[in-house]
Amino acid sequence: MEESLRGARVLVTGASTGIGEQIAYHYATFGAQIVITARREKVLQKVVEKCLSLGAQKALYVAADMASDTEPERALDFAVENLGGLDYLVLNHIGPSPFSMWDGDVEHTRWLMKVNFFSYAQMAWRALASLEQSNGALVVVSSLLGKMPSPFVVPYTSTKFALNGFFGALHHELMMKKSNVSISICTLGLIDTDAAMEKVRDYTNVPAYPAADAALNIIMTGATRQPELFYPWFTHIVTLSKDWFPFITDYIMQNSYSYTP
Ligand code: NDP
Repeated sequence: MEESLRGARVLVTGASTGIGEQIAYHYATFGAQIVITARREKVLQKVVEKCLSLGAQKALYVAADMASDTEPERALDFAVENLGGLDYLVLNHIGPSPFSMWDGDVEHTRWLMKVNFFSYAQMAWRALASLEQSNGALVVVSSLLGKMPSPFVVPYTSTKFALNGFFGALHHELMMKKSNVSISICTLGLIDTDAAMEKVRDYTNVPAYPAADAALNIIMTGATRQPELFYPWFTHIVTLSKDWFPFITDYIMQNSYSYTP
């Protein structure tokens, strides 16, 4: 895998912090050519510097707000132009969203859908021609909460269900068209990023798994063109059992958080 990633042309979104940042560092260590994107330019600059020091053949950033109608495509075009094509598109960014009971804020949900879902669809479509030229791979970072609904994150869960539906259906279409582009959907459990830990700290003591390891598994899934990743492994069991034993999974979902009405 390491050999195949040397010189690979990669765009990683949401790479200023968290799992995306770790994905960028792994690709850098493998000697890939990387473009990273997120909103905060100064943070992106620092990640790019570290990528170069880790061994990236090329590392560039493009600051873009994925809530915009046009910036997702601009970021994608920047990567294709500056890398001379694209082998991997890793869609990973998410907009900030509160960890609290749904308060009826439809406007926030609409905005989050733009960031977490519509920009993914836009970038994937824009990337397809380049990925077809390179036998490339599309990697979508999703969540266990895109397989089973969760309290406290109603808008976030909705965006992840939308992603799974969209990219699951697109996967079928690409297979039926005999496209050479692979789609990998990554189902993650709780990962120890600052953003996630800050939210859940007061509500649950469910174990969190390391972001660097999650990132490596995501890269391996894309490189080996697997249609799905479940990380950690038990997210697969939970996904399989939720329809067979809904009472048990509902009970677990509602009782793994401390909450007093
Ligand atoms: P973080 O909150 O740490 O990182 C989010 C990234 O998205 C940042 O780089 C942020 O940078 C960027 N971002 C936020 N808003 C925008 C925007 N409007 N436009 C462009 N970029 C934006 O997230 P995690 O690393 O925790 O999560 C990464 C992925 O993993 C997500 O898809 C998430 O759903 C998934 N996941 C995470 C889990 C976890 O427990 N951590 C569990 C399951 C799935 P900036 O602010 O500079 O724009």
